[in-house]
Amino acid sequence: MVSPEQKVVLITGCSSGIGLRMAVMLAKDEKKRYNVIATMRDLKRKDKLVEAAGDAYGKTLSLAVLDVCSDESVKQCINSIKDRHVDVLINNAGIGLVGPVESIPIEEMKKVFETNFFGVIRMIKEVMPDMKQRRGGHIIVVSSVMGLQGIVFNDVYAASKFAMEGFCESLAVQLLKFNVIMSLIEPGPVHTEFEAKMIQDVKQKEYPGADPDTVHYFKNIYLPSSVDIFEALGQTPDDIAKCTKKVIE
Ligand code: NDP
Repeated sequence: MVSPEQKVVLITGCSSGIGLRMAVMLAKDEKKRYNVIATMRDLKRKDKLVEAAGDAYGKTLSLAVLDVCSDESVKQCINSIKDRHVDVLINNAGIGLVGPVESIPIEEMKKVFETNFFGVIRMIKEVMPDMKQRRGGHIIVVSSVMGLQGIVFNDVYAASKFAMEGFCESLAVQLLKFNVIMSLIEPGPVHTEFEAKMIQDVKQKEYPGADPDTVHYFKNIYLPSSVDIFEALGQTPDDIAKCTKKVIE
């Protein structure tokens, strides 16, 4: 049973990386006692989260299935928890896409927008009416430093984050009147599956037809130096989770 003082926090994309650590950190906060609904599109991927949550699992942390690319899944998930109301929505689910535009099929690009842009909008549309009616709520969106600055071969990913930031900045003004706050988190490079997959993909792939100088720059200069930056900055999913927790508090 959730007491009225306990904030219900719903997070998307909790099977790994930043979302997983956010869910664990918030669920384990004994002072605030958040009620965390950690969502993921496939519950077969829940083990890492459940293990990291320890005793919090089943108490302050519960799981739900949610695919941000599916209208039906989003509706079902929000309907299933309606009696609890969502106080804080954390839109974290996201996918990357790296490579020269010439070699990426439009369908793959659309998938990035479906997840990173429309996925966020689907979630917001579903929780917004209740937040407006209750005159309170907090919507957090995990964007990226690439929501502010484009980077070579990340054209479509950066575009999806730019688009989403434009959407959020515009909506934030309307929502303020209803005491609903919107916040953007813009991480730099973070050590997660996302980052590891990106580096591996880029190293292995050939890009026939793409400008060879740019490919050379990306593979031999940009990528190795950004791996150094990953190492030097040492940003972990916990750093981003801590930052998000401060934003909620
Ligand atoms: P991970 O790949 O570790 O996690 C991404 C999560 O999103 C996974 O749980 C994945 O689930 C989920 N996801 C993907 N598609 C969907 C979908 N359609 N519906 C629901 N969940 C989905 O990456 P990160 O933790 O690094 O990424 C989290 C966020 O942080 C993303 O929005 C990313 O853009 C952003 N970010 C990451 C940075 C980095 O360097 N890592 C830097 C800046 C921003 P599944 O297990 O099912 O695939």
